[in-house]
Amino acid sequence: MAKEKINLLIVDDEQQFLKSTATRLEVRGFHVIAVDRGEKAVETARREPIDVALVDLKMPGMHGEQTLETLKEEHPWMEVVILTGHGSIDSAVECTKSGAYSYLQKPCEWERLLEVLAEAYKKKVMNQLDIQEEKMNELLEMSAYSSPRALLDKIRQLDQED
Ligand SMILES: [Mg+2]
Repeated sequence: MAKEKINLLIVDDEQQFLKSTATRLEVRGFHVIAVDRGEKAVETARREPIDVALVDLKMPGMHGEQTLETLKEEHPWMEVVILTGHGSIDSAVECTKSGAYSYLQKPCEWERLLEVLAEAYKKKVMNQLDIQEEKMNELLEMSAYSSPRALLDKIRQLDQED
C-alpha cells in the first residue's frame, strides 16, 4: 500500500464504471483498490489502510448504506463518499445522516469528484488527529492517579487499537 498516496477504495457493481473510474483516479495519483461488492469492501478495509471509500448505493448483496455503516463502525476515522444513480438522491442524503462525508450523483463531474475526495481525505486526517488527542488526554488524566504499570498497560492497549 502506497504511503505517499491517498488510499482509495471504490465499490461499485457496474464493472465498466468501476474500471474506468479506478484508472482515471490512479492517473491522478490515488492508490485505488476497486471491488464490486460491499462484502469485499468490508474485507478489504480490514486488511488495507484505506483513507477514503467511494461507495455505490445500489448493489446486490450488501448495499451501499450497509457498507457505509460497517466501514464507519470498524474504522471510525475513515471517510465514505456515496455514489448514487438517478432517482436515489433521497437515500443518498439519508446516508450523510449515517455518517457519509458526502454523496455524488452518477455520472459525476470529474473535477467535483476529485474535489470531494480531497476534502474527504483532509477530514480523515483530522479525524485521526482528534482520536490521537482523545487518547493523549485520557493518558494525561490517568497519569495523575495510576501506577506506572497500569499506565503502561493502558498505553499498550491504546497502541493496539486502530
Ligand atoms: Mg450499482
